[in-house]
Amino acid sequence: MISVEDALDLVEKNVQQSASRAIAVKDALGLILAEDVASPIDMPPFSQSAMDGYAVNYDPAIEMYTVIAEIPAGSSKSYELVRGEATRIFTGGPVPKSANMVIRQEDVNVVGSQISFTPAAEGANIRPKGEQIKTGEIAMKAGSELNPAAIGYLSTLGITEVRVYPRPRVAILTTGNELVAPGKELKYGQIYESNSIMLEAAFNYYGFRDISQVTIPDNYEDTVEAIQSTLNRCNILVLSGGISVGDYDFVGKALRETGVKEVFYKVKQKPGKPIFFGIYKDKLVFALPGNPAAAMTSFYLYILPTLNKWTGGDFVGCSKTELPLSTDYTRKGQRTEILKAYATEDEVKILGAQSSAMLGSFAEANALVVITEDVEHVSKGQFVVTLLL
Ligand code: AMP
Ligand code: MG
Repeated sequence: MISVEDALDLVEKNVQQSASRAIAVKDALGLILAEDVASPIDMPPFSQSAMDGYAVNYDPAIEMYTVIAEIPAGSSKSYELVRGEATRIFTGGPVPKSANMVIRQEDVNVVGSQISFTPAAEGANIRPKGEQIKTGEIAMKAGSELNPAAIGYLSTLGITEVRVYPRPRVAILTTGNELVAPGKELKYGQIYESNSIMLEAAFNYYGFRDISQVTIPDNYEDTVEAIQSTLNRCNILVLSGGISVGDYDFVGKALRETGVKEVFYKVKQKPGKPIFFGIYKDKLVFALPGNPAAAMTSFYLYILPTLNKWTGGDFVGCSKTELPLSTDYTRKGQRTEILKAYATEDEVKILGAQSSAMLGSFAEANALVVITEDVEHVSKGQFVVTLLL
């Protein structure tokens, strides 16, 4: 059995960044740019008023100015002011050529079609053409992540497509004869199926929405067939349950039968020891234990960093910090423990009900505390590695 560290190394080695592709800017939220993006226009594309007021051709020798026109935002007329002339102008309106400032309307005295005002600085309240960026200049660099403002920025430049590292297509394959969809009535011996719903939510939470779901009964032939057909239409296959050593656990054998090459099986961790990771051509296969908390933990530990690297980032998952533990803690077994916890600014508290079959404390958790296999005991106040969820 390998350590969590070695397992992470092996996963990282086997994840390739996806090939870049052009996609619509509006669909690119959260993705990473694969190339520099140059601005196709000057921004602003014309000299623009930053205020509601008057554009003036100010000359210290002149006191009264004649208002010759009104320029609202969107006006397509271009004006040229001579000495002593002004225009009414509104925010976003194109500033006339030879206007050297825009005077806020609050600072203007209007007498019929004439105005007087206290002058502002040269260029005041004018956003010059190309002030933000000029045609051909780099608007965003390769490697930048597209946050909502970036989507907005590229749109202000009229850009509709960008080259990014696209997200993988994910298939979730859920095994277990005992499982019933929530909403149905439970018969004796049955439990509600939660992993497929939880894992899809986890993928969605991080922006991964191309998820297909397949449910299969605990039998070998169906498992082989489902793996074969699903592998052809996804980049990452995630299986839930059936990877332990029980008589009804067919996933391991079925994966071998379908040609999935094992990279590792079983990791010295609690929860989630019976986790399988394998590859099939350029596809990645994670077979997660069925116990819900084990499946969720495995997502955070292995799948999240995989998704980040796949889409052009680093192989990192949850952000990591160190916080003092709120109580003493003594590890029970020989494996690295990943414990549901609640972190505040000052400390982190290990929650109750750590069983891999239970999700209650996980639902409450905002962190996972990692106690590595070489640490027997942690005293209150000692710093522990904390993954923030
Ligand atoms: P397995 O890994 O298939 O041996 O399952 C381990 C435990 O997790 C069993 O108690 C299963 O009933 C439970 N389990 C497996 N899959 C799911 C699931 N999709 N949703 C909820 N519980 C599950
Ligand atoms: Mg099972």
